[in-house]
Amino acid sequence: MSTITNGAPVSAPVVPERRARLTNEPVAGKKRILLAAPRGYCAGVDRAVIAVEKAIEQYGAPVYVRKQIVHNIHVVTELEKNGAIFVDEVEEVPPGSHIVFSAHGVSPAVVQGAADRGLAAIDATCPLVTKVHREAARFVKQDYWILLIGHDGHEEVEGTMGHAPDRTILIGSPDEADTVQVPETDNLIWLSQTTLSVDETMETVRRLRERFPHLQDPPSDDICYATQNRQVAIKKISPECDLVIAVGSANSSNSVRLVEVALEYGAKAAYRVDYASEIRQEWLDGVATVGVTSGASVPEVLVQQVLADLGDAGYTSVEEVTTAEEDLLFSLPKELRIDKSGKRDDRALGGRTRA
Ligand code: SF4
Repeated sequence: MSTITNGAPVSAPVVPERRARLTNEPVAGKKRILLAAPRGYCAGVDRAVIAVEKAIEQYGAPVYVRKQIVHNIHVVTELEKNGAIFVDEVEEVPPGSHIVFSAHGVSPAVVQGAADRGLAAIDATCPLVTKVHREAARFVKQDYWILLIGHDGHEEVEGTMGHAPDRTILIGSPDEADTVQVPETDNLIWLSQTTLSVDETMETVRRLRERFPHLQDPPSDDICYATQNRQVAIKKISPECDLVIAVGSANSSNSVRLVEVALEYGAKAAYRVDYASEIRQEWLDGVATVGVTSGASVPEVLVQQVLADLGDAGYTSVEEVTTAEEDLLFSLPKELRIDKSGKRDDRALGGRTRA
């Protein structure tokens, strides 16, 4: 087994007034944690969460949010405590209210629906999702058919399809690439959801291209930098891990993908948890090396709680394994950059340093 060392060892945090739930059972070998980096908050999530906080500060509670602002139960619960009300559709929002569109983006029909209802909309769509929306709209104008690789029912997919509703065909898996029917074969381009497995998406494209040799690639990657970086980091540590714990919610596509990728790349077991309290003692039976990562919508505080609980079980040696540095920064949605008194807020928002 090779040793991965880049980055200084990280100490398990001491969290006051907490009672140990896991016990320190002996195992063969030294107990250790490999902590994947990058992990956690991406720039788009950071921006969306701060947008809701800022909207509440600027306009007062309640501020309505269409769908979960990001797919993380902890984040949603905390924002609710501070005055956010999450709704499924704009029709649930009282006319005249402020509404925030989530990081996953919306279709033009939703934007129109909010305007028709007299809502003041704040668009927290991640700029990297907006990029896919623009691609979809542009290629439809050029008479392409879009093969959109993504998960049926996911909010981002619904939003993207809404930008080209009559010329988009959804493909949910590599197997569907073998059977999908298209009206024309010369004018085809594929786009994708931003939070998919890179490997599975490439397999889908490969199989599509076998059937449709003229299939065109998007101008740039649709799977975003954050999704790709978190997958690269977990691929690096998984071969050494007896167990991988990915922190993230069940409806978080990129968090769920991290569990799949960990298993694919050699982790003996992998589980997703929302909270440290979900870690089961039996998962640790015979486990020397635990890999820890988190999805792009996960605040770092939840990872630190996992490290603290694992520390109780004897995993006190924590080594951070860094495979990329992230420096992408976004500004606030334009609706929030200038407040009522005319003061500008030009802060740059960039990811997981926020707890
Ligand atoms: Fe944007 Fe990617 Fe983060 Fe989604 S995961 S909010 S697309 S940066």
